[in-house]
Amino acid sequence: MKEVILITGSSRGIGAATALLAARHGYAVCINYLRDAQAAEALCAQIRAAGGEAIAVQADVGDEADVARLFREVDARLGTLTALVNNVGVLEQKCRLTEISAARLERVLRTNVISYFLCCQQAVRRMSSATGGQGGRIVNVSSVAARRGSANEYVDYAASKGAVDTLTIGLAKEVANEGIRVNCVRPGLIYTEIHASGGEPERVARLESIVPMQRGGRPEEIADAILYLLGPGSSYATGTFLDISGGL
Ligand code: NAP
Repeated sequence: MKEVILITGSSRGIGAATALLAARHGYAVCINYLRDAQAAEALCAQIRAAGGEAIAVQADVGDEADVARLFREVDARLGTLTALVNNVGVLEQKCRLTEISAARLERVLRTNVISYFLCCQQAVRRMSSATGGQGGRIVNVSSVAARRGSANEYVDYAASKGAVDTLTIGLAKEVANEGIRVNCVRPGLIYTEIHASGGEPERVARLESIVPMQRGGRPEEIADAILYLLGPGSSYATGTFLDISGGL
């Protein structure tokens, strides 16, 4: 059976590493992005040059109509979806909780939580054996922030990841008997550009000493865990969590 994967927010960082690894595992890959078409197309070209299949689709996954269009494009251009990675995630400038505006909360929760619900809905409709689907796997990308809380940095972001964890548990049970496994990866401090959005591009290097393994992680180390949870090696795992965080 042809394996088709959609990875949200995959033009760079952990999503891009996951797209490259999935292509190497034989998946036809849909790379989703918000603004950086050039980066997404370059990633597609890299996958195609290595003999893989990839498309890039611009869509704001916090927007219901965009999500519906994104999934229709996957249907039409790649075929039946067999795997979804909800990877998109944003954070904003570091601050205390009292400084978080309602508008910021809405932005963070829309991208980090609502998008995960919207994409899970579209995926389950296609995958569920209850509606004639062939089954599938979903991996949600949360964060160790869900249990650490990100005090004085971004409690809104940490709380959004707590919601992702609960979504994983609830949906996994809802569809466990319909051929769909739903699992979650919680990265620790990983070298990507997300930290610049919080106002500190060098945040991972500064915090390496609090990590028991004394170093930040690479996006590829998260991609390995995601591919494990998508693959046959985890066939009895659903509603479970892999913390990939050097012990943090
Ligand atoms: P990143 O480097 O900042 O990349 C974010 C990606 O999301 C980009 O491809 C961006 O596309 C896309 N994006 C942003 N908003 C979008 C939207 N509304 N719709 C569609 N795409 C959108 O992020 P990352 O560090 O790889 O993080 C990936 C995931 O891991 C996130 O869920 C994050 O919370 C989680 N995580 C990361 C770390 C870490 O230390 N890096 C730790 C724990 C958890 P454009 O470039 O086009 O804007």
